[in-house]
Amino acid sequence: MNEMLNQPLRAQPTADERWAGFKPIVSGDDYVNSLRNRNLDVYLFGERIDEPTDHPMIRPSINALKETYDLAQREPELAGAKSHLTGNSINRFLHIPHSPQDLVLKNRMQRKLGQLTGTCFQRCAGLDAISVMHSITYDMDQAHGTQYHQRFLAFLEKLQNHNQIIAAGMTDPKGDRSLAPHEQADKDLFMHVTARNERGLFVTGAKAHMTGGLNSHWMMVLPTMRLSEKDKDFAVIGVVPLDAEGLTYIYGRQSCDTRSMEPGLVDKGNAQFAGQEVLAVFDNVFIPWDHVFMDGEYEFAAPMVERFTNYHRASYVCKTGLGDVMVGAAATIAEYNGLEKVSHIRDKLVEMTHLNETIYSSSIASAHEATPLPSGAWINDGMLANVCKHNVTRFPYEISRLAQDLAGGLMVTLPSEQDFDADETGELLKKYFKGRADISVEDRVKMLRLIENMTLGRNAVGYLTESMHGAGSPQAQRIQILRGMNVEQKKWYAKKLAGIVQVGD
Ligand SMILES: Cc1cc2nc3c(=O)[nH]c(=O)nc-3n(C[C@H](O)[C@H](O)[C@H](O)COP(=O)(O)OP(=O)(O)OC[C@H]3O[C@@H](n4cnc5c(N)ncnc54)[C@H](O)[C@@H]3O)c2cc1C
Ligand code: SF4
Repeated sequence: MNEMLNQPLRAQPTADERWAGFKPIVSGDDYVNSLRNRNLDVYLFGERIDEPTDHPMIRPSINALKETYDLAQREPELAGAKSHLTGNSINRFLHIPHSPQDLVLKNRMQRKLGQLTGTCFQRCAGLDAISVMHSITYDMDQAHGTQYHQRFLAFLEKLQNHNQIIAAGMTDPKGDRSLAPHEQADKDLFMHVTARNERGLFVTGAKAHMTGGLNSHWMMVLPTMRLSEKDKDFAVIGVVPLDAEGLTYIYGRQSCDTRSMEPGLVDKGNAQFAGQEVLAVFDNVFIPWDHVFMDGEYEFAAPMVERFTNYHRASYVCKTGLGDVMVGAAATIAEYNGLEKVSHIRDKLVEMTHLNETIYSSSIASAHEATPLPSGAWINDGMLANVCKHNVTRFPYEISRLAQDLAGGLMVTLPSEQDFDADETGELLKKYFKGRADISVEDRVKMLRLIENMTLGRNAVGYLTESMHGAGSPQAQRIQILRGMNVEQKKWYAKKLAGIVQVGD
């Protein structure tokens, strides 16, 4: 399939040329400015957008990522770390975990960012991708005598020094889910190498659902599943800057996203923050060898995916930060309705908290139970990380159901902010939508809109459907739990106590 092509299909910049022009980022404002003037091929509502950074529908997702920079400046002990490569202070989102404590701090930071933004802050898949590449490149070099680990470390050091964001593109469109990549009618449904030459290789395909796919500086592409020898050309890992030639981005819609383009703030629910997903299409995109970290080592695709999920499924602790916001919103609306002392309301808040803390405990336990890998990186306990993510596929839905219960029907029948402001209707609405006498109608409406935003609106993507499918749909966790549950050992414990087997059997 792959001929050694010397004639350029596309521009073929070296790794150094790709870094040229990037300035190190310090503050959140530096980050926002770093996204400007990239001339990316971005499409939304069927049109190319000139400057995504200032688009009202896109900007809230940039604000969420900006918070990862601002938090690192405000609380460096939580959101900062010391680079194991240089000893420099770096953002924790660029730090390879070298102890269980690193993973615990990562989880605490993720919960905090969920509390601060109420949405997906888009930076964890990239962190988990660089974490897994530390050990997988090392293991591939041991098995094949390749030089991937040093290449990867050289890239990581630059990424840390520039304080940039890397997104992780793992999910291929996948076509017919019952077929392997090489069996698909259209090979482009899985990313694959189309050509190689002495300078690097070219890839074609697409990465779907890319969280923060536009708000990043780099994108890492990785295989999405176990591969066989026949899938060798699909076994490719590399990094590209977002403005690489041949890349097209098509923006993903989120429920109620056009509210971001309406005047006013109240009906948006959370006017400041939102998530982002894009489809990134690669048409013969060039990756210089210095930025290629797997090329054909198909047998490492399965362990790479498994290790990535160990990290990433524990990262879904982020949803406990959003859960904290939901508990707070439900408690506040009950208070605004004059019901905070009612026993069933208090019990529902207890239930919401119980579910939220159950998610947190599985994640934080998986960090404490982390183990070292030969490369020196540490990895979350796989069983507990899968249990965490499996809890996340369910509990936010129940927490949301309870929040909607406490909110009442007004959450979905409220008139618009403009009707509250209009001369003809404003006074009527303020009279009839009053709750407790000492609480303004405006505050009551704002809280209802926040619950709407997180359970039905834009940030329900981040709180609910991303909880279901992000880092793998529920069945993917059940498969891992089945693999790790060691039922034979458990049968032996039972048989020993029942007197069926003896110690030593
Ligand atoms: C909001 C959001 C953000 C995301 N962010 C990222 C990101 O940043 N990077 C990234 O790489 N990915 C990302 N993902 C992708 C995520 O990992 C996938 O959505 C997930 O793996 C499921 O894949 P899918 O969406 O193609 O669903 P499908 O594969 O279509 O699954 C649909 C259903 O079919 C079942 N199914 C699928 N295949 C099989 C099979 N072979 N046998 C039996 N059952 C099957 C599944 O279990 C599921 O129930 C994101 C997803 C969402 C929703
Ligand atoms: S879903 Fe959570 S873990 Fe994934 S990128 Fe968003 S905030 Fe991070």
